[in-house]
Amino acid sequence: MADVEKDPRWSLLSSTLPMLIDGKLVTDGPTSDIVSSRNRKVVGKFAVADAAISDKAVAAARKAAPGWAGLSGYERGKYLVKIAEIMESHAADFEFLDAVDIGKPLTAVRYSDMPVSLSALAYFAGRGQDLSSRSADLGDPHVSHRARLEPYGVVLEVLPWNGPLWTGVQRMAAILAAGNVAIMKPSELASASFSYLASLIADVLPPGVLTVLNGKGSVVGSHLVTHPDVAMVSLTGGVETGVRVLQDTAAQVKRVSLELGGKNPNIVMADADLENAIRWSAMGGFSNSGQICVCGSRILVQRPVYEEFAKGMVEAAKAQVVGDPLLETTQMGPVVGEVHFEKVWGYIDHAIKNGEGELLVGGERYTDDTRAGGWYVPPTVFGGVTPGCVIEKEEIFGPVVTLTPFDTLDEALAIANDTTFGLASGIFTSTVENAEKASRELQAGAVYVNQWFGGGMQAPAQGYKTSGLGGVGIEKYLQTKNIFTRTNGD
Ligand code: NAD
Repeated sequence: MADVEKDPRWSLLSSTLPMLIDGKLVTDGPTSDIVSSRNRKVVGKFAVADAAISDKAVAAARKAAPGWAGLSGYERGKYLVKIAEIMESHAADFEFLDAVDIGKPLTAVRYSDMPVSLSALAYFAGRGQDLSSRSADLGDPHVSHRARLEPYGVVLEVLPWNGPLWTGVQRMAAILAAGNVAIMKPSELASASFSYLASLIADVLPPGVLTVLNGKGSVVGSHLVTHPDVAMVSLTGGVETGVRVLQDTAAQVKRVSLELGGKNPNIVMADADLENAIRWSAMGGFSNSGQICVCGSRILVQRPVYEEFAKGMVEAAKAQVVGDPLLETTQMGPVVGEVHFEKVWGYIDHAIKNGEGELLVGGERYTDDTRAGGWYVPPTVFGGVTPGCVIEKEEIFGPVVTLTPFDTLDEALAIANDTTFGLASGIFTSTVENAEKASRELQAGAVYVNQWFGGGMQAPAQGYKTSGLGGVGIEKYLQTKNIFTRTNGD
């Protein structure tokens, strides 16, 4: 087995990871520790901002905005392509940093986060050349109308910790392609990979076009959110944070877009290909240790196949290779940090203590040296869970799924929709009528049929209910101007 402690990529963490302000890498102010999820050890540092540093960065971004907006989509796109080339040539470094920092297995970054990031850069490089809007016939032959999409100027993007690279790069690419300048604020729990990206591309873009500012949400995030020169705020995170941002920006009537959490129902019908349903449901529940906003954590199973499905999920949970994210063989790493670890265990302990279903597998803390030393949580399945109880209702954001039996599709849909969230949902069935009915009636921005996960830049999904607000894709970073022109001079 490879000795991961001798990996040459540890040298990436030998100096403070920087922020990017006005085209310069900044490491000389306050710093924060990078605490590795794999063993709770401090493995490096990243630079963090304060109010004064943030103000300086916003001023530089504001100065850069008109020049960047004045470039053609093609010229902006060329910068994105260049960034993609640089990222790709350092792909192994990004794998390493996210594995060490947040515990995401190397292979997950390699086969998911990195391709998603690179394709986003390529996609938006082209998409930025195709910003068209409608023209209406107003009924007057002497008046023409056209709508023009325009950037906001300075856009703040606040990132979550669960996919710091792909969420960050995807959104950064869309912001820049739309002609805005971007201020990226990674999560304080996951700043390594984006800070490293900043160090690689500092001199690629004109100064101020891309800013990377690290720091706590309650300090740097909230300061930036209310900054008068930040024209638009986009946040990916929890619902509570989204509400806070709406409250904080209300007096400014600031443009805000929110991509928030979910507690996503997965309906398994008796007529489903069960092997397929189990495989995808395990992937949907346990990928990235359940720390994906669209994870299918609330599984509803039709009674005739309930026992067989439950058995299959237990086997799938046991088969997960849970271990050091730096090993090529690992499928599931630790969760992100101490507070989140305790939160996930809080839910598991609560469910066991209060008999919220029957614990079928998992639910016990690891005792071996590797996993007891880090923030590892085993894949955990609770069976026979009553709809509406805590573990069935709240977003746990860990490798914990609930199984609930049902009799009819109508009953399953009623349970599925009885939630304040509306991010993703899914159904496994071999009947087109079931698939169509569920696709129409599930109250969520995404419906997966006979698979879990899906989508891409071409089909960005917007959460329903509390899971989202304000648009997705490149459109969210653009405002519309309507231009009315009298053509006969009268
Ligand atoms: P979080 O809400 O704790 O933090 C998100 C970001 O907001 C962080 O960068 C944080 O520093 C910042 N922040 C916190 N308080 C702030 C404030 N007052 N003002 C400004 N910024 C502030 O979320 P998280 O724990 O990092 O991420 C997990 C959550 O994100 C889950 O609920 C998950 O479902 C959701 N998520 C949603 C999507 C999506 O596309 N809908 C994608 C990934 C994650």
